[in-house]
Amino acid sequence: MSLLVVGSVAFDAIETPFGKTDKIIGGAATYISLSSSYFNSQVNLVAVVGGDFPKSDIALLEKHGVNTEGLQIKEDEKSFFWSGKYHNDMNSRDTLVTELNVLGTFDPIIPESYQDCEYLMLGNLAPSVQKTVIERLKKRPKLIVMDTMNFWMEIALADLLETIKLVDVLCLNDEEARQLTGEYSLKKAAKKILTMGPSTVIIKKGEHGALLFNHNEAFYAPALPLEEVFDPTGAGDTFAGGFIGYMASKNETSYDSMKNAIIYGSAMASFCVEKFGVERIVDLKNAELEARVQQFINLVQFEISLV
Ligand code: AMP
Repeated sequence: MSLLVVGSVAFDAIETPFGKTDKIIGGAATYISLSSSYFNSQVNLVAVVGGDFPKSDIALLEKHGVNTEGLQIKEDEKSFFWSGKYHNDMNSRDTLVTELNVLGTFDPIIPESYQDCEYLMLGNLAPSVQKTVIERLKKRPKLIVMDTMNFWMEIALADLLETIKLVDVLCLNDEEARQLTGEYSLKKAAKKILTMGPSTVIIKKGEHGALLFNHNEAFYAPALPLEEVFDPTGAGDTFAGGFIGYMASKNETSYDSMKNAIIYGSAMASFCVEKFGVERIVDLKNAELEARVQQFINLVQFEISLV
């Protein structure tokens, strides 16, 4: 099934305890598109970059089968730039710089050829732009998943709440779920979010896995314990890409499929953190992904008889 991905395509500068990068390719939609490209669906990108964005990085997306017809290039402007620094625990980070540049005036134009997309992944972006994308689709997709972050809660909360009303699944991290709802308990936070519009909530907990909630059930996917975490940037987006990529490939919207999808998302994210930026997720082998999913199964599978 075909998938529409919208979000930032960016330059990132990252600092971790293991090293520092200059401007490298990043952005929510970059990670989502690359990650979802491993699931045999047609991935269609809507995003914007400036004239400074290397053509070789666009070619990299295309090499993964990502349709870039909806990627606007504003020749005289600069690409979105984000810079972040991780703390020693690698689970928390400070944003050092957010320069919206082209993203500040982004008008998401949906190519006609994308109109039949049945799965929509709204990656991190101004919530008003995410909403415009939904409004510009002539037919509502079967599944709309939305990711967001604290930055938008701080500067565009009203727009964010309006957009959240329209989506099926909201995906955010624990800190953001607490900020959005004012609840410390993640169960209470999820319950509140389920009154805001979405019928499913995914709360990512970094190295502590991810929780999936609907009105009746909860499910937990662990994160794989890794010996080395090199750079967590994009892990959340890579997770989201694996999630929606799996759902689109199965053409399924059920809660049971979502359980498998968060395992696949977690497996994809576990690769992402092993190297800087997108480096580890640009040349994954299917066999590596399958072996990793098996590791997840082994990690949590047990037989027990109740006493
Ligand atoms: P993650 O580590 O999954 O939260 O995602 C990091 C990615 O999000 C980086 O590649 C950034 O370019 C991108 N990003 C950071 N801040 C924003 C923002 N305010 N809007 C859109 N994308 C952002």
